[in-house]
Amino acid sequence: AFITLEGGEGAGKSTQARLLAEALRGRGLDVVATREPGGSTGAEDIRTLLVTGEPGRWDPMTEALLHYAARRDHCRRVIAPALVGGRWVVCDRFADSTMAYQGYGHQLGRETIRRLDALVLDGFKPDLTVILDLPVEQGLARAGGRGGAEDRYERMDVAFHERLREGFLEIARRDRQRCAVVSAEGTPEEVHAAILAAVAERLPL
Ligand code: C5P
Repeated sequence: AFITLEGGEGAGKSTQARLLAEALRGRGLDVVATREPGGSTGAEDIRTLLVTGEPGRWDPMTEALLHYAARRDHCRRVIAPALVGGRWVVCDRFADSTMAYQGYGHQLGRETIRRLDALVLDGFKPDLTVILDLPVEQGLARAGGRGGAEDRYERMDVAFHERLREGFLEIARRDRQRCAVVSAEGTPEEVHAAILAAVAERLPL
């Protein structure tokens, strides 16, 4: 099965992806833990292009194309072979991040990203997507303390992050079969338990 974790800055995706992969392994499943942008050698090279350089280096469409170029390589070389081999894949960010960041945040629009996705991935989707939801102020406060994505988000205003959050929630409303919205406000342990419950409810553990 293919599970993705999504959410804005400071939602705790990386921590939760790691905890989920460990929990699934504890149940005897063979789990590949991966991330985007990146996840394969070529996609990690593209990630470097995306996260280095000054903010605004790439216009939103170029950014979306780079994300999809990376994603295609990641799917072909890592995700698809793992799934064919019967393994479980847990991915920190996937296509919904491009919809939320470039589609909603940078306002390329839903239809543009949907067409790009159809062209590049040809209908390939996660079996389950967990959307970690957090009020914008809390997410920015958490992310600010950590420093990683600071450079980028400091240049983007609160309105950007409000569009991002609303984008993720809209994605979940449009695809309730695939998406589960989980509050990221609790402790890491509480959020982990809620994620495991969502997984157990939808997938054969
Ligand atoms: O999740 P992670 O922090 O590794 O993401 C790396 C950076 O890329 C973050 O600053 C995130 O905001 C940004 N990003 C983006 N558009 C995407 C996915 C991630 O701007 N589609």
